This record gives sequence, C-alpha cells and structure tokens, in this order.
Amino acid sequence: MDLAAAQHILKTTFGYDDFRPGQQAVIEHVMAGENSLAIMPTGGGKSLCYQIPALMFDGITVVVSPLISLMKDQVDALNDSGIPATFINSSVDWPDIQERLAGLHNGAYKLLYVAPERLDSAAFLQALGQLPVDLLAVDEAHCISQWGHDFRPSYLALSTAIEQLPTQPQVLALTATATEQVAADICQQLRIDPQNEVNTGFARDNLDLTVVKDQDTDRFILDYLKVNQGETGIIYASTRKEVTRLTTLLTRHHVKAAAYHAGLSDDERRANQEDFLYDRIQVMVATNAFGMGIDKSNVRFVIHAQVPGTLEAYYQEAGRAGRDGLPSEAILLYRAQDLQIQHFFIDQSERDESNKQREYQKLQVMSQYANTQGCLQQFILAYFGEDSEPCGRCSNCRDDREAQDITVSAQKVLSCVVRLRSRFGKGIVAQVLTGAHNQRVRDNHLEELSTYGIMSGQRQKSVGELIDFLTAAGYLQSVGGQYPTLAITQEGASVLKGETQVFRKMARKAKRLAPVDD
Ligand code: ADP
Ligand code: ZN
Repeated sequence: MDLAAAQHILKTTFGYDDFRPGQQAVIEHVMAGENSLAIMPTGGGKSLCYQIPALMFDGITVVVSPLISLMKDQVDALNDSGIPATFINSSVDWPDIQERLAGLHNGAYKLLYVAPERLDSAAFLQALGQLPVDLLAVDEAHCISQWGHDFRPSYLALSTAIEQLPTQPQVLALTATATEQVAADICQQLRIDPQNEVNTGFARDNLDLTVVKDQDTDRFILDYLKVNQGETGIIYASTRKEVTRLTTLLTRHHVKAAAYHAGLSDDERRANQEDFLYDRIQVMVATNAFGMGIDKSNVRFVIHAQVPGTLEAYYQEAGRAGRDGLPSEAILLYRAQDLQIQHFFIDQSERDESNKQREYQKLQVMSQYANTQGCLQQFILAYFGEDSEPCGRCSNCRDDREAQDITVSAQKVLSCVVRLRSRFGKGIVAQVLTGAHNQRVRDNHLEELSTYGIMSGQRQKSVGELIDFLTAAGYLQSVGGQYPTLAITQEGASVLKGETQVFRKMARKAKRLAPVDD
C-alpha cells in the first residue's frame, strides 16, 4: 500500500506524527484488501485504523457501532477535522435518512456510522446495497460473540448483511476485549483469516491495578476522594440501589457526583453524562449501563465498589481510566458476599442452562483475581491468553509483606479435599476442617473423616479465605458452575507429596478503616 499516503493523512488530517502500535499493521491489512481483526486496548487508537483507509478508498466506509448516544459527537468531530461523515440511527427521522442516503449517493460523505439494529431492516440493507461501500468497520466487535460478556443479538445480522451487499465490502473488526475464544468467534462469523489479526496486547502500562479486600466501602471511597481531591473518576456498583446510595453519600460529603443507571430517564442520563464529559461533576456513580464508548480522556480512577460479573467486564470498565495515557488507577473493592449479587443476576437471567454455567465459572475467575497474590496485570493478561512479566505497579507487586511458609496448613486443606473425593464445595470443606457440627456434616458422615476437625482452632471464615487463596494460587480448582466443588490440581498433589512448599503473605492485624457513621 501507499504508506506515505497514509502517513500524510495521519499528519495533515489528524495532526499526529507517528502511528501508535498496531495502527500501521491494521491499515496495511485493510489497504491490501484483507478482512482483518484489530485488538487494541482502550485508548489505543482504533478509530484511525478505519478512518485513514476511509479517506484512501474511493467509496464509502460504513462503521457499525453500538454507541448511538455518541454517534453525533463522533461525526461532528470528524466534520470539524474536515472529514465528511454522517450517521443513521433511531434518532434520525425518515426524511432526514433519505437526505443522508442521497448525499451518500452523490459522494458527499466518506464515512457512514450506523447502529447494528439498522442491519436488521431489509429496506435499509436495500438502500445500503445501492451505495459504493468499500469497507465495513465493526466497532466493539466482541458484541458478536455469545462467548463475550456483552453479546448483542443484532450483531448476528452482520454476517448476513455483508453477504447481501453487492459490493462485497471488506471487513475490519475492532475490539479492546476479546479472549482467544471470542477472537476466534469474531473471525469465524465475519470471515476473517486469523492470520489477519493484529493484536497489540492488552497491557495498559499507565493503569495501576489494586484489589482492596474487606474494607468499609464508604470510608474507603471518601478517604480516597479526600487524598485525590479534584481528580475525575467513575465508581461502579452492581445495583441501581447501591448507585443511588453512594451518590447520596458523596453529595452529602460535598463531592460533585451524579448517578447513571438504566432506571433513570433518557434525559437524566444524557444530562448526567454530559455533566461528566464536560467536567461539571467530578465523579460518576454508575452501573455497567454507563461507559461503553465514553470517550473521556482524563478519567483518573475507576473504583468498583462491588465486584462485576466477569474479568472481561472488569477490565473493560477499569480501562476507562487513563485513556490519555497518564497514570491512572483501577481499584476493586472486594467482599466475597458481593459475588452473591452477580450469582443472583446470572440465576435470574434468561440464558440457557449451559450459558449460565459458563457465567458462573467466569464469576469464579473474579474471585480468583481478588484472591491471587500474584501480579494482577499478569493475571488479567494470562486470562486473555497473553504471557507477561509481573508489572511492578499493581497492589500485589507493591505488597512488601513477607511471605510465610504455610505448607502444613495447605496440606491439611488439600488432604481434606482429597478425602471428600472432590464431591463438596468450599463451605463444607471449611466446616469439616474446623470440625463443625451440623446436619449436612452428620448426614454425610463427615465426622468420621480423618481430616475432620484438624483445623479446629481456626474460624471457618479464615479457613474459607485460605481455600480461596489456594484456589487462586492454583493448588485447588473449583469444578462446575453454580455449585462448584473443589478438587486438587497437579500442583496441589505435589504439595501433598511434600515436593512443593506454599508461601502466603499474611494479613497484618488491625488497620481496618473505621466505618462512616452519619
Ligand atoms: P480506542 O477507540 O482504541 O479506544 P481512539 O481511537 O478513541 O481509541 O483513540 C484514543 C485517542 O488517541 C484519541 O484521542 C485519538 O485522537 C488518539 N490517537 C489515535 N491515534 C493516535 C496517534 N497515532 N498519535 C497520537 N494520538 C493518537
Ligand atoms: Zn503487578
């Protein structure tokens, strides 16, 4: 391809001297006429990967994006840079659509942004078929996969739509969040040769990951905002009720905050979002309804007051901090009982049974993320199939507590799991180890086990935490979805044989934050 031409556009139209990692490779694939997939972190610069080719092609580039609320802003920004673009979504009325289509016919626009729902309409596809479409850019492409965390049924219409277009446009799929499985699914559905995948990796070097366990949420957040006065951020919670509660708390403590969740009217949401985008408020307290495509560059922190349902969702939400490349923080406030809320969401969802089991398993990964003592970034990257070194910045890498040899306790837990023949979950294992008396234990004759009560000096909760640690560290695995049972892994077996020692950083006493009492 004409690299000089692409570079010229980069400089003159967008005002940048150099391509960001991956951009050139993606543009090369596109200009070579190949269907391709770009995986780049949030803020990595995915838009240029189709905007520059759009300016180099003779015809039109259609951008499929679920971010209806942002389309107008995106198109306005392009027009301001002298790039003729328009959009068609549910906010545009029919006469206006006709006018825009006529403009597209006459070569008045290089880019057309559409919502995926448009492609369900035969009339719209018919109209699109009359246009010289060279390239179809599919933004947030992970939405096409049922394996992903944000599946949208209307994305399924894409592959049929592409087939029906007489110009047979080539496809560029883009996403910031795709496990290997999701990437494979995108490639399969959109007919992308996996060789044409450009993956710059998921690491975000300006994002410091932190897990804070079992602290008072309100106190933590208020203290954090005091120390980081004036910084802009997002606080995510799982339920509307908790969003409302936290917003009230912050407002009462003179923090400029607003709420965002699906229970608010469109107008309220729009107003709050704009207040946040234009820095009229400091903190947005929100459910996961807020965020996809929020192009606010100076978000300095993202705090999850409650654990989200999957690591993909977590990393995507956390990744909204620091799009400008400046140091930023992503903090997960973790309490094991918050997993129950997500459990409930899965249980109540209209997914089929195997789908539910998969979601339960994804939730267990969140528990492992919160309980690992290894590098948090490394944990996330490994989840996305990427090898990496410890980041040196996350709360675990910064944790300077001395690790203690807990091999003997680990052996007690592991042998109990073996004695229970991997038939029971964490609760029962902890009860047996601590020698609990209850019906379930009696019914299963568990008092007769040799490991019954061998940790009777300890509380069930702390044995439960030890089990979580051993699971996150890979000595135990939890098997199954909704009611997982524990089994030992190969590493666990080697601990039992005395071949491997287990080390754990132990909690320092005290240092609990006092709750907020007003
Ligand atoms: P993504 O969609 O991957 O999250 P965007 O395409 O919105 O990211 O780009 C993020 C920011 O980076 C934007 O402000 C964009 O203008 C800027 N950007 C993109 N490419 C470059 C580049 N080559 N050099 C400098 N800044 C860039
Ligand atoms: Zn780290």
